[in-house]
Amino acid sequence: MKNQKIIIALDGYASTGKSTQAKNIAKKLDYIYIDSGAMYRAVTLYAIRKNILDESKIKILIKSLDDINIEFIRNNDVQKIYLNGKEVENDIRKSIVNSNVSRLAMIPEVRNFLLSKQRGYGKNKGLVMDGRDIGTVVFPNAECKFFFIATQEVRAKRRHLEQYKKGNLETYDQVLKNIVERDRIDSNRSLNPLKKSSDAIEIDVSDLTENEVFNKIWEHISKKIN
Ligand code: C5P
Repeated sequence: MKNQKIIIALDGYASTGKSTQAKNIAKKLDYIYIDSGAMYRAVTLYAIRKNILDESKIKILIKSLDDINIEFIRNNDVQKIYLNGKEVENDIRKSIVNSNVSRLAMIPEVRNFLLSKQRGYGKNKGLVMDGRDIGTVVFPNAECKFFFIATQEVRAKRRHLEQYKKGNLETYDQVLKNIVERDRIDSNRSLNPLKKSSDAIEIDVSDLTENEVFNKIWEHISKKIN
């Protein structure tokens, strides 16, 4: 069948450029793009704002999950995430969220809450979703799966530069420390840890430009849609 709609799962480590590639692919195919990490970040931001981030308040957070409304809204070709009606695209990238998101992402109720939302986006296919468990858990039958890796130093450099351009004054060492810590928690949690699906194509992006990565993944995707 020509041009059939598929689901593309793009998993991998923090700061490997998953979102950039996922956005570009979605644009080229006119697909929906969903950043699943942003959803975990939005739940974390909610917990920060309600002051229920602490270990001792987890039960309250779990009870409040139904009060959390997450939406992705497109405006002038730019898609942003909204938490309970307010745009939070920048707030969810702040260092307080970076430092707490992986701990909240370990909570089974939080994962289940987001899982059903994530699956909903794939009902009609035509979806690119990036994250940690998209190819393994959210869409195990996705037609195209990628897994991005890169050294922690390359990723920290990339994230540091990105943050610096946005006026964030975190040092390279602080950024590296956060990446190491998130890798540790994300890879070792018992529920849906970060791991490559056996049928995913692994791409080491350490020495590749954005265009080179795009061309590599496009080569695989174009075979699936034609
Ligand atoms: O992709 P991003 O780095 O923004 O994700 C933030 C955090 O959300 C990750 O470090 C991970 O703890 C969590 N996450 C997850 N499962 C996903 C996407 C993100 O556990 N599918």
